[in-house]
Amino acid sequence: MRLSRYFMPTLKEDPKEAQIASHRLMLRAGMIQQSSAGIYSWLPLGQKVLKNIENIVRDEQNKAGALEILMPTIQPAELWRESNRYDDYGKEMLRITDRHDREMLYGPTNEEQVTDIFRSNVRSYKDLPLNLYHIQWKFRDEVRPRFGVMRGREFLMKDAYSFDLDYEGAKIAYNRMFVAYLKTYARLGLQAIPLRADTGPIGGDLSHEFIILADTGESEVFYHKDVLNLQTPEDRDYSPEELQGIVDTWTSLYAAADEMHDPDNCPISGDELVTRRGIEVGHIFHFGQKYSAAMGANVTGPDGKDVTVSMGSYGIGVSRLVGGIIEACHDENGIVWPEEVAPFQVGLINLKSGDEACDAACEDLYAKLNAAEVEVLYDDTSDRAGAKFANMDLIGLPWQFSVGPRGVKNGVVEVKNRKTGEKEELSPEAALAKLIG
Ligand code: ATP
Ligand code: MG
Repeated sequence: MRLSRYFMPTLKEDPKEAQIASHRLMLRAGMIQQSSAGIYSWLPLGQKVLKNIENIVRDEQNKAGALEILMPTIQPAELWRESNRYDDYGKEMLRITDRHDREMLYGPTNEEQVTDIFRSNVRSYKDLPLNLYHIQWKFRDEVRPRFGVMRGREFLMKDAYSFDLDYEGAKIAYNRMFVAYLKTYARLGLQAIPLRADTGPIGGDLSHEFIILADTGESEVFYHKDVLNLQTPEDRDYSPEELQGIVDTWTSLYAAADEMHDPDNCPISGDELVTRRGIEVGHIFHFGQKYSAAMGANVTGPDGKDVTVSMGSYGIGVSRLVGGIIEACHDENGIVWPEEVAPFQVGLINLKSGDEACDAACEDLYAKLNAAEVEVLYDDTSDRAGAKFANMDLIGLPWQFSVGPRGVKNGVVEVKNRKTGEKEELSPEAALAKLIG
């Protein structure tokens, strides 16, 4: 992509409304634009990152055997009356009336909708286990939308729903998602910690929030210091016993969300306990028959008798992750994207656009990167070199290639690693070899 043809409305000044780094940097890098409180348009650079995150989330869900569907954003109120949540949900739910005076709502989550799909189609235990997911926009009329996309009113969520014959099956489904989440966050370049979370009236120990550490996080988190040394599961299939083993390892060390932590009854000593702030980037929950019983989601069991299925739900905040990753990965000059989610792998900076030799050297590199399908953003504008460097640092691409008159004369390109700041002068071939495997 040539910057001269791109739409990336960067800001030189810090926007006043932004209180935290990710919000400030997303606005400054021209990734998003606010439409109204907590509702954003995603501009090309932001949209690219959002899609990259979505694709990693999707890939890990697919590998875990979940099946992708797409449920609507607008749902009928009657489904929510069946589960008794229509009134309970209160003001956070955006209620809509259509022209025939039918009550509708913009979905804040999809348990009812997916249970309706299940009960209309699945009749036998032989069709279980089943896990259906979608990646869809949600609306919650948050009291205090803030921090940009981190606490929006409209936000993108991956939500999966598992259906099993009994608790044993549901627990395997839960463990499978637990492990898929560990792998997902690691692929996003993040260190996520699963915290024991409140299961409310359902009880049991099958609810975990996944958080990433950041000083600006909204939740207080408590964990054993060794949690940060646990190994991410390998990329392969696991038997139910192996899944249980991984979950046991990860949950054997103390890690609790605020509402679950009692300082007077903490099972570990003060020098093992770390207290930090975190951003909730996912939540998995086993809720058994809460919706299946209320909505009549039954299958015929092996003995011919009806069984009410056991369910769980598994959310990942896809749009929140864009901000969350920036909170975890930035410095004083801007964003530092992990390679897996970066909007482009390399920024090619022409330090003297219009100079015949510089233009020719840049065009050659640009063509070769494109041919190798390396995503490149080529700054071919006539801006000053200083402004170009600052802009590239701000948008945080993993690599920068700079081409100027002196380098061209010496047959070298300056290659900078955005994360380490390390710079080296390499021949164009050696520079390309860094990115073309
Ligand atoms: P929170 O406590 O942050 O409000 P929640 O418990 O309401 O989250 P869930 O209903 O479990 O969240 O939703 C699943 C995921 O969706 C959360 O882990 C979070 O990453 C994301 N999410 C929830 N609310 C928002 C929001 N207002 N803006 C952006 N992402 C959100
Ligand atoms: Mg909430």
